[in-house]
Amino acid sequence: MAPDARKQEAETGSALGNMLDLARRALGCRTVALFLPSPDGSVMLRACASDREGIQAGAKLAPGDGLLGTLLKPEAPATLLEPNLPQTTSDLGIYEDGHGPKSVAAVRVLLTGKTALAMADNDQPLEAGILAELAELAAAADLLLSRTRDLRIEMRGREVWQRLGLFERTMGSASKEDAAHEELRHFLLQFVGAEAVFFILPEPGAATSGRPSERWYGRVVWTLGADCDSARDFRVEVPGRGICAGAMARGEFLQRRLAPREPVQLLGHGEPVLPLEAGGDVICAPVSLGTEGRPGLLALFRSREPFSPVEREIVQTALSSFGQALTRLRAAAELEKLATRDGLTGLLNHRTFQASFRRELLKARRTDSKVALILTDIDFFKKVNDQHGHPAGDAVLRGVATTVQNQLREEIDIVARYGGEEFACVLVGTTEQGAVETAERIRKAVEDASTDIGESEPKKVTISMGIAVFPDDGGMAEELIERTDQALYRAKHGGRNRVERALSPGRSPDAIGS
Ligand code: GH3
Ligand code: MG
Ligand code: MG
Repeated sequence: MAPDARKQEAETGSALGNMLDLARRALGCRTVALFLPSPDGSVMLRACASDREGIQAGAKLAPGDGLLGTLLKPEAPATLLEPNLPQTTSDLGIYEDGHGPKSVAAVRVLLTGKTALAMADNDQPLEAGILAELAELAAAADLLLSRTRDLRIEMRGREVWQRLGLFERTMGSASKEDAAHEELRHFLLQFVGAEAVFFILPEPGAATSGRPSERWYGRVVWTLGADCDSARDFRVEVPGRGICAGAMARGEFLQRRLAPREPVQLLGHGEPVLPLEAGGDVICAPVSLGTEGRPGLLALFRSREPFSPVEREIVQTALSSFGQALTRLRAAAELEKLATRDGLTGLLNHRTFQASFRRELLKARRTDSKVALILTDIDFFKKVNDQHGHPAGDAVLRGVATTVQNQLREEIDIVARYGGEEFACVLVGTTEQGAVETAERIRKAVEDASTDIGESEPKKVTISMGIAVFPDDGGMAEELIERTDQALYRAKHGGRNRVERALSPGRSPDAIGS
């Protein structure tokens, strides 16, 4: 419960107490008490004013429990007045010492459709007029309580909208897609009660022709709720069977009431068993992802009461800022890619290589470690272009780029397109021997690979390579590049399809590979 709501609750409790105390004094009784409906069908002592000690706060009464319990039976009269009780039968179940008052009056009332009791007792005989007073007291308490309930709902609403504002600001400044997803999950868990939640993103890949009939796939990227894990990675075919597929195909928000055991699919054919058996309410809210023509989708399921219009509004508002955040992040990533990557091979471009290489050298100098540089050049590449055409040359270039990259450590080593058909590899923390082994492995992999260029024979090429190592062959980037280039030149002149290391003083110029 939020602090505001707790404060409100305490204030209501004390207002109710004051009200009963005033009534007790006005009526001249020892005790006035109010039993309110409790979830298990009994009533519970929720407010009491008494000049006696030892009242059992929270005391419960079920139908038939003692004198007051008789009033809870629906067939019993709605009022009870005992002006003169025999001491033995008068334990009301609210005094810790079992004190039995002389006289008791009580009325059964309905508060928000449920049975409640208002009672008074005294050590002097009570008179019949007190029954009407108690009924009025119960009605006043009902008013006070319902006003508090309204206030609490209103406050909860205000809390949600405030949190939604915060959510929107967080989305506006999110710097990673993962963080945006995490924030959305948090928000939904906190403010939208759903038993099952599925978040679907369109699979990248197949080119978009823009035809509405085109088939595509969404993938469940995360879920919330018990028993929903098995739906992760589920592929949703669009258009296809299932409520989600329909909403994604049309890009429209929908809410549907499911009858118990209705033969309906949420995600599509062959979906994992979802908790839809009991029926319930489903919301499918598409998320527009800007650059992507296809929407993502948030699906929420709840078996209890339907999602309210306010909940729908909350979901849609949250999703709209989530979609904006994803659009912004993807556009930024695309720009970054354009600025740092080579369009043909997808490798880092020359400028980024230069910056990254220098950064690695700085790091290596600080940590006293080694960095190896390999430059590769495709042998007789002009001939490939001449014999098979430039597009075939491009395909071969892409194939070699992939082969080279596959031989290196992802996220550690750097591979860039250095120039036309030349690649640069920066091997972080690698000695000369390690670099020679890696280069030899790359040489062999390229020699073994071939590229489909749409002719009867796939095209095979070889590469020549030069190696230099920091700090063995030089301390500065320019110097190391120069040395590597010279080594590459020697590899070419030594017969191609081979690896040469830089010639530093005291080294013999022996070729290593081929
Ligand atoms: P060598 O064994 O001496 O390296 O012979 P080579 O023919 O490969 O000579 P060089 O490396 O000097 O030639 C590079 C050629 O690569 C020149 C150019 O036509 C071609 N080239 C450079 N960039 C591209 C490209 O993006 N696509 C295609 N298809 N060809 C390119
Ligand atoms: Mg070249
Ligand atoms: Mg070449």
